[in-house]
Amino acid sequence: MKYFIFSDIHGNLEALQTVLSEFEKEQREGECTPVCLGDVVGYGPNPRECIEQIRKRNIVTLAGNHDYAAIGKMDISYFNPYAKDAVLWTKSVLSNEDMDFLESLPLRRVIGNMTVVHATPCEAEQWNYLFTLYDAQHNFECFETQVCFVGHSHQPIFIIQKETRDCWVHPHSILSFRDGWKYIINVGSVGQPRDGNPWSACAIYDEDTQTVEIRRMKYDIVLTQAKMREHCLPDFLIERLELGR
Ligand code: ZN
Repeated sequence: MKYFIFSDIHGNLEALQTVLSEFEKEQREGECTPVCLGDVVGYGPNPRECIEQIRKRNIVTLAGNHDYAAIGKMDISYFNPYAKDAVLWTKSVLSNEDMDFLESLPLRRVIGNMTVVHATPCEAEQWNYLFTLYDAQHNFECFETQVCFVGHSHQPIFIIQKETRDCWVHPHSILSFRDGWKYIINVGSVGQPRDGNPWSACAIYDEDTQTVEIRRMKYDIVLTQAKMREHCLPDFLIERLELGR
């Protein structure tokens, strides 16, 4: 069995469609379950269409901070002005049904030997970021499974912890699990990558071989940017897509 894990779509339909066709390709080769780690909406021009794509495939989806913000379930005063503008626009276009869907999303789940959460396994509802090995150390204490998949920072990363609690970053895009070691894996972002590579990211976890691969996919950025301009979304958000920053 494989899992196809992705996060942070942010209303970017072109990116989501590209990632979903990669998923469908994977599914034709064998059993593969999709899992979405949240932030389906916020920033991008097609929040409703992205919700529709996720819902019609019944994809297991977690709540992200932008999903909560769009339904008024959290305070957006700490959001930067661009994110705030985009959240308010998103809120204005969502239907009641879209809102109910976002409202129903859980913060955290355990599926087989993996924990999945949008931000961090410790205090998932605080939406903290996990950037340093110090942050990771504390978070390894907050899940019982061998691996925890996260999103939120929009930067893919593999963090490993040995039995001795030593942690390090694995600097490649493929990783094989070892018994007794634990892993925190950030799957990157579908709709707004920020690691310097503008291509959409996702992770494929193969339970049989115990390997995880981060895959990148090119999508039609120019079309997404044109739609954002049409809706007068902030220039900063439009430009960052092609930079992957
Ligand atoms: Zn996000």
